[in-house]
Amino acid sequence: MFHVRASRDARPVSIADRYPFADFTFRSTNDNSVPHTHIAILGTGFSGLGMAIQLKKHGYNDFMIIERAGDIGGTWRDNTYPGCACDIPSLLYSFSFAPNPNWTRLYPQQKEIQNYLRRCARRFGILPHIRWQSELVEAVWNEDEQRWHITTTQEHFTADFFICGNGPLNEPSLPAIVGIEQFEGTIFHSSQWRHDYDLTGKRVAVIGTGASAIQFVPQIQPKVAHMTVFQRTPPWIVPRMDHPFSERQKRLFRLLPVAQRLARARIYLRNELTALGLVYRPEVMKRGMGFAQEHLARQVPDPVLRAKLTPHYAMGCKRILVSDDFYPALGKPNVELVTESIREIRAHSVVTADGREHEVDTIICGTGFHVTDAPFPQHVRGLHQQTLAEKWNASPTAYLGTTIADFPNFFLLIGPYTGLGHNSMIYMIESQINYILDCLRKMERHHAQSIEVLPEAQAAFDNEMQRRMQGTAWTSGCASWYLTSSGRNTTIWPGFTFEFRYRTRRFDWKHYSHAAHPSAVPSPSS
Ligand SMILES: Cc1cc2nc3c(=O)[nH]c(=O)nc-3n(C[C@H](O)[C@H](O)[C@H](O)COP(=O)(O)OP(=O)(O)OC[C@H]3O[C@@H](n4cnc5c(N)ncnc54)[C@H](O)[C@@H]3O)c2cc1C
Repeated sequence: MFHVRASRDARPVSIADRYPFADFTFRSTNDNSVPHTHIAILGTGFSGLGMAIQLKKHGYNDFMIIERAGDIGGTWRDNTYPGCACDIPSLLYSFSFAPNPNWTRLYPQQKEIQNYLRRCARRFGILPHIRWQSELVEAVWNEDEQRWHITTTQEHFTADFFICGNGPLNEPSLPAIVGIEQFEGTIFHSSQWRHDYDLTGKRVAVIGTGASAIQFVPQIQPKVAHMTVFQRTPPWIVPRMDHPFSERQKRLFRLLPVAQRLARARIYLRNELTALGLVYRPEVMKRGMGFAQEHLARQVPDPVLRAKLTPHYAMGCKRILVSDDFYPALGKPNVELVTESIREIRAHSVVTADGREHEVDTIICGTGFHVTDAPFPQHVRGLHQQTLAEKWNASPTAYLGTTIADFPNFFLLIGPYTGLGHNSMIYMIESQINYILDCLRKMERHHAQSIEVLPEAQAAFDNEMQRRMQGTAWTSGCASWYLTSSGRNTTIWPGFTFEFRYRTRRFDWKHYSHAAHPSAVPSPSS
């Protein structure tokens, strides 16, 4: 049976059990009116949570977070597949304002990262602001009232501002393969892992060899009877070099926080060097390609398998992956790597273009997420009742990845042009948070009720991004999830991340129009 489980709330623990100290009642200022909040945030991943924490730290307490699931964590709540871990060291892949000296290893697993986020939510008093199991149905800007009308699966309320951290990798993408609906075995996506389904002794097909698949394939290989891994394009893979932190290192980080900050800065700068090759100096990537090829040669002695695993596109065009155990897993006797494309799926098999039928009990889709075609933009309406999806017309764009013309008082976290292939997304998220906070401060100072980015500023930014994208690794000719259906890369920030930090350090008022707050406008009689 073709069955994709709605796993977001699959854990049998109640919210009250998980967060016993929190008060989950929603504040309503007036029982007779639609509840109102100053700021609505969507999502409790790194983006939404980081925004909420910073609002609170800066004295904003009138905000509410809507979250469709029943727990904190976003990516780190949903992806529970075996081996799920970050691929940027957590010394860097964590909030700068909440260092954790107790990370157990360089690349912690999903559970440890989710627990870190849960602790942050508790420590900064965010839990009472969250509306759980509240999926966004529609957010509509009301120009007369100068506020957002937000409808979720739980309620209707209004907000002066709407800040969205809905996540770039939050909507699982299933492959559009002929016959997939007819499959009679068990089929699921890596981000909706079936922990209730025992893979022991099963014949398993894995579709995809991206960031998730290379993490779970080595974990399940020892228990399955046979695994067929279907690969479209081989990824570039470099050594992971993961290691646990010793008690001495953790003690040092606890006693001397500056040591942890230095370690964090070192990782940041080392990763940032990759941008040099991705954007400006392709010869740097050639060195990286040589390094990755040596890794492949060391780990895969079989020349036929090695040839199948050798990428034939510029390194960095697709996400560079880190793994020490994926290649060895593919060399095991119960694993076959198939590079023929899939033609169709039948009741009990996967058929490839060469007509070969691979009989399987289970299909695991490591096929990534809807990125440039996620459904979220259909649910947000700005000026003239236009949805964000209509506005974008399949080509997402946003000024500094954050604000959009015709969508007043609306902000995206990890919007278009903020994705990275080489460094921590949290650095980008924190840059955007800072920009939004400065916007709120400036609006208060200028007595503005709403702001909206000027269309010409947005168009100039978009043109600049597209111009700078030319000649980079990302536009060197591979197919990747960074691209829209028309081949535009609207996902990646085409530069150093510190440039993004610099450009978002202050809210640039001159690129915005604003409507004054009624209290700031002299009345005709005065
Ligand atoms: C397996 C995996 C590993 C990754 N590893 C790394 C890494 O090592 N380094 C790195 O930099 N990045 C990594 N990423 C990218 C990662 O997505 C970001 O780093 C970051 O976690 C995104 O946080 P977010 O809060 O923006 O989105 P998410 O974590 O996706 O959170 C979005 C939240 O919004 C909620 N939501 C979405 N839509 C709605 C709606 N309509 N109504 C209500 N609620 C909604 C979701 O339920 C979710 O809780 C990884 C991604 C994946 C999938």
